[in-house]
Amino acid sequence: MPGMIYLDHAATTQIAPEVLEAMQPFLFGKYGNASTLYDLGKISREAVENARRQTAEVIEAKPEEIYFTSGGSEADNWALKTAARMYRRRGNHIITTKIEHHAVLNTCKALEQEGFQVTYLNVDEEGRVKLEELKRAIRPGTILISVMYANNEIGTIQPIAEIAEIARKRQILFHTDAVQAYGQIPISVREIPVDMLSTSSHKLYGPKGVGFLYVREGIPLKSFIDGGGQERGKRAGTENVPGIVGFGKAAEMARLEMPYRMAREEKLRDDLIKMVLREIPYARLNGGRKNRLPNNTNFCFQFVEGSNLLVLLDMKGICASTASACSAGEKPVSHVLRAIGVPEEVAHGSLRLTLGKNTTPEEIGYTVECLKDCVSKLREKSLAYREYEKSMQSGRKGERGMLE
Ligand SMILES: *Cc1c(COP(=O)(O)O)cnc(C)c1O
Repeated sequence: MPGMIYLDHAATTQIAPEVLEAMQPFLFGKYGNASTLYDLGKISREAVENARRQTAEVIEAKPEEIYFTSGGSEADNWALKTAARMYRRRGNHIITTKIEHHAVLNTCKALEQEGFQVTYLNVDEEGRVKLEELKRAIRPGTILISVMYANNEIGTIQPIAEIAEIARKRQILFHTDAVQAYGQIPISVREIPVDMLSTSSHKLYGPKGVGFLYVREGIPLKSFIDGGGQERGKRAGTENVPGIVGFGKAAEMARLEMPYRMAREEKLRDDLIKMVLREIPYARLNGGRKNRLPNNTNFCFQFVEGSNLLVLLDMKGICASTASACSAGEKPVSHVLRAIGVPEEVAHGSLRLTLGKNTTPEEIGYTVECLKDCVSKLREKSLAYREYEKSMQSGRKGERGMLE
């Protein structure tokens, strides 16, 4: 199969042609500063407000509740750092999970340096927060809970409605990093009482370097970037008009195409999971089959180093991702795989394949063939594998796929 097969949509996506088209006039021609009063500025301002409506509608928010940022990381930093510092008089305890994106985890680490106490909740073997554990973690000084909507490595969707209700009942501010979920699965801030929600454009066929923080009306969140009066005084900096316009278009497309994209990707995802577990021995699926993002698969192949597998797949034109970034020694095993209880030696052989709106069944079929080939090549070179196979042959015969 010629060309490149891109199966790393959780890392980033290529902007859709329609998005490029929407952005182009604002990259060249309509370059006005959205804060100026002449017509050229007004054109930019109206385009930004249009994008605010488009991005808000995806989660049934009001446009006034959307504050554009430079992406998901900034939105997470803003929500957590500002909320923690504002509510410090009430307490210094924050609750999050062990499987958050580093934009949240390292923000919490930074807050610990400032004297905040952070509880990192465990998750079950599928990666879901245990509600009872969450309830037990809450104490009088708890001021903020942050739980991601869906995980970027294993695709697990959290029981966000239940978590938000628990926080609301105890009057604790609730933030969710929805970067992986926004535009991929239905989210409604009208139905779920989240207070703050982070998104990023480049995960849904929009441009990089733009996202938003949703802040529920009435929550007096302070600014994080100080300067000019942009974003109603909450986020200074000349608006990234082309980026925001592109994000708006991408969000609108995601909203309109969501049922179609979801059905298509879920089918391809389930086919991929079925084929991999059937064709490749000693493979396991990380994360559950239910409560999983439509486009996410994540496997471990025992006796294989994920980074080596990536190199071989790359040579066949397949872009994928592993959670174990390094090969020699150290301990670069994914914090997410560790949290769901994957043994260290198995976690090294992790592979994430995330599908997109243009992924085809042919690409999936070809990928499975390549994967089978690459995994067995790497295993041939693995001493541990050969010894294991030998011991299996002399002992209990023909026991395959012990890891599920
Ligand atoms: C990609 C991602 C981020 C970071 O978003 P950027 O726009 O790249 O800064 C944060 N959280 C999750 C879950 C992500 O997948």
